[in-house]
Amino acid sequence: MINIAIDGPAGAGKSTIAKRVAAEKNYIYVDTGAMYRAMALYLYRNGIDADDSAAISDRCGEPDITIEYRNGEQVVLLNGENVNGFLRTPQVSDMASRSSVNPDVRAKLLELQQELARRENVVMDGRDIGTVVLPNAQVKIFLTASAEVRARRRYLENIEKGLPADLGEITAQIKERDERDMNRPVAPLKQADDAVLVDTSDLTIEEVVEKILAIIDEKI
Ligand code: C5P
Repeated sequence: MINIAIDGPAGAGKSTIAKRVAAEKNYIYVDTGAMYRAMALYLYRNGIDADDSAAISDRCGEPDITIEYRNGEQVVLLNGENVNGFLRTPQVSDMASRSSVNPDVRAKLLELQQELARRENVVMDGRDIGTVVLPNAQVKIFLTASAEVRARRRYLENIEKGLPADLGEITAQIKERDERDMNRPVAPLKQADDAVLVDTSDLTIEEVVEKILAIIDEKI
């Protein structure tokens, strides 16, 4: 199977880019952030405190989280319910960032991600795909952009979706999430030694997609 790993911080453009690259190559796109978000939604709905790691460890084995593809779109099922529409709220984003530091949460989702990559040609995006989930991926990309550029993208995205948008607040949240992703003891956000660094600060989506397709063609 062909495995392509795309890692990077929040707002670097991973999902947009990974989705396009997957479509171009006819591979399956796996958004691992959505899995962490589904787990977070479960914890949130059950009133679990994001700082209570014992409770999170205790309960994270309960939900059944699966991914299906319907008309080419990834649908995340939480105990059989399509939860795609609930994964992007500020509450779930915050809970996902906090609960993803938990080793039991990570172990559970790791298994699911590796299973998908064994069965299908995938473009998988996340934080630890090239380092931990798919260390043998044929192509590894580390996608980044400055915190200011990433915050501005999220801000424009929120405005477009009619969500609350305060640039200062979004910048602070992005920096806080980077901090947590990079400094957690288990599977921190880190560029794999054999990953190619792509800085998207001054590139359009098209340019980034072209660049990554060229890297893939060179390696495979
Ligand atoms: O990429 P996205 O913002 O949807 O990810 C949601 C949260 O899940 C992030 O804040 C990050 O902490 C966590 N995550 C992770 N490992 C991954 C993907 C996401 O820890 N492979």
